[in-house]
Amino acid sequence: MSRNGLSRTRTYAAGALALLAFATACGDDGGGSAAPAAGTTAPAASKPSGAAPAPTGGAATAGATAPAGADAAAWAKWNLTPLAPAPAPPADKPVKLQRTGPVPVFSEVKTSDKVVFITIDDGAEKDPKFVEMLTDLKVPISMFLTKDIVKNDYGYFKPLQALGNHVQNHTVTHPVMSKLPADKQKSEICDDQAALTQQYGTAPLLFRPPFGDGANTPTLNTSVQECGPRAIVLWRESMQIHDMQYQAADKKLKPGDIVLAHFRGPKELKGATMTQMFGDLLARIQEQGFSVARLEDYIQAPAS
Ligand SMILES: [Zn+2]
Repeated sequence: MSRNGLSRTRTYAAGALALLAFATACGDDGGGSAAPAAGTTAPAASKPSGAAPAPTGGAATAGATAPAGADAAAWAKWNLTPLAPAPAPPADKPVKLQRTGPVPVFSEVKTSDKVVFITIDDGAEKDPKFVEMLTDLKVPISMFLTKDIVKNDYGYFKPLQALGNHVQNHTVTHPVMSKLPADKQKSEICDDQAALTQQYGTAPLLFRPPFGDGANTPTLNTSVQECGPRAIVLWRESMQIHDMQYQAADKKLKPGDIVLAHFRGPKELKGATMTQMFGDLLARIQEQGFSVARLEDYIQAPAS
């Protein structure tokens, strides 16, 4: 792990905190739990889900400095102050993934750039307005998708992917992984990996266990290795409805922090929409003087 330039101590501390934050992670919020929605929702707007064009590594690099080009009018349309442009992605990636062996677990990336990374999980809310918003603002995100939550409309995420955003692995049914034996863990990860690879044309490089659960266990690490992802990604902040929940006592963003958010709508957000939640997230980031960079631009994939 130390090879990856990640702070081992902080990684494990974050893992523990992630478990403490169990109730506030994916599928929480004291109301409708997002997680169990798997497979029960009616296909709201099923679109053809043929194989996607595959915007992979190259697309991400091209889009990396996108926030710089976003014009004030686009931000004003969403009642937002523009974020500072993100710096060019580092040539020497702070995270270097290996092709084999144990996968690193991290919740932040070592960088002095005043950037944070936004990750959005599960995939329950499929609000067309959010696609419009990201098309306008070009803010980079990473999507950790759960097969049973997105399979009724894989197509929703394709325009988001076409903006240069990567699709990552978040299991098939959103279970508590540490309660599953190794073979069940494997089917959760491997089957999501296969479905996302088929739908989005590229194999996820990263995995996030639901609730952050089991992230630092040898069993889960082995299961992830056997399914293809090369890192386990946690988070430092968790977006709620209008503000973030911080693991850090000072409640401030730090350079390289990974922020967790969810595809959620009014039912889960006490009436707020996905775009209102995301706008509030950007405002909280903007007022702390940070910009948003693309997580995958700070990660070197294994040499193939
Ligand atoms: Zn989740």
